[in-house]
Amino acid sequence: MAKHLKGKNFLIIDKNQTPLKLKISGGGKCNFTNEFISNDNYIGDKKLIQKVLTHYTNKDVLKFFKDINYKRIKNNQYFASNSNEIIKKLNQKKFIAEILDVEKRDNFIVHTTKGDIEAKKVVVATGGVSYKKLGATDIGYKIAEQFGHDIISLKPALVGLSLQKEQFWMKSLSGVGFEVEIKIGKKSFQDNILFSHRGITGPAVLNSSLYWDRGKIEIDFIPGFKPLRSNKTLSNLLNIPKRFTLEFLKAHKLKDDTLQNSKKAIELLQNYSFAPAGYFGFEMAEVTKGGVKLSELKNFESKKVKNLYFIGEVLEVTGELGGYNLQWCFSSAKYLSLLLCNS
Ligand SMILES: Cc1cc2nc3c(=O)[nH]c(=O)nc-3n(C[C@H](O)[C@H](O)[C@H](O)COP(=O)(O)OP(=O)(O)OC[C@H]3O[C@@H](n4cnc5c(N)ncnc54)[C@H](O)[C@@H]3O)c2cc1C
Repeated sequence: MAKHLKGKNFLIIDKNQTPLKLKISGGGKCNFTNEFISNDNYIGDKKLIQKVLTHYTNKDVLKFFKDINYKRIKNNQYFASNSNEIIKKLNQKKFIAEILDVEKRDNFIVHTTKGDIEAKKVVVATGGVSYKKLGATDIGYKIAEQFGHDIISLKPALVGLSLQKEQFWMKSLSGVGFEVEIKIGKKSFQDNILFSHRGITGPAVLNSSLYWDRGKIEIDFIPGFKPLRSNKTLSNLLNIPKRFTLEFLKAHKLKDDTLQNSKKAIELLQNYSFAPAGYFGFEMAEVTKGGVKLSELKNFESKKVKNLYFIGEVLEVTGELGGYNLQWCFSSAKYLSLLLCNS
């Protein structure tokens, strides 16, 4: 017999008491929103994204969290002093059980490891598939598919990129990091790159991974470089780690020479174009791009099955690094809750 939701307006079912992604987000300090947000920071249906973000804005999020300790960092990103404060403020009372699947009779029957629950409406907010060790599952996509929805192909995003043979020289720089500018299509990100034994990572790379599928990215390793009159060699002159410059020159069979004799090296450092091999993988990706197809929903409700809704990361909306993904989750949840309250 299914337990009814009678007497209760809603029930949050989650297999974890603690929202683990939220807990470790932003390195345990949860970057929960950003000062400058627009649909340009996201991939997905731009018109819908703007509508939802305008409905529940970054200012609304800041107002909601006004009594927790938070800081604005890098001039635009809001971090809590500790993610636990965000979790406490959200104060979610949950029914702890794993959702196995959802069935539609007159009402929905949600089958869980702790029995069946009957509900008139079901809102799927089960997130993406990255970081399975934190409890992520593909149940949201399975529910969508089961009810006839298309899933835009899932790919890891906000993740490091692996290298082809020609760029293996970068692997020997594991641990080195500095500010670069990466161009990918019409987007460019000026921020840190970090070399690792697997490839390249760091905020500039993570952001680029959102827009990268296959093909080339272009890195300016010395953004804003202005030639100076100097007799120093490049490795002593450039304001980037010497280890990098020497490795870069060696890989391209160039000499560590004075600026006057280093035209080719400078040009290459400013426009280093190459095709990464792939992503580090879902296990290291902050988010999943792709997801439940928005054109098959209206106001987050399935056009195929009445009273079935999808919000948050399970949708084919993915934001850049900087609090955009949590803002999307808050905005889409709030947008839907207002509609449901008024229906
Ligand atoms: C390491 C890391 C750092 C991040 N840092 C940031 C950041 O600083 N700022 C930012 O904006 N974004 C950040 N993100 C992304 C952000 O955490 C997610 O986009 C966001 O949490 C998605 O929210 P959601 O509610 O859609 O899904 P989730 O937060 O993933 O929540 C889904 C919930 O569904 C539950 N669930 C899944 N399957 C089942 C099942 N079968 N049965 C029952 N329950 C289930 C899970 O337990 C989970 O609690 C980070 C992500 C990671 C992995």
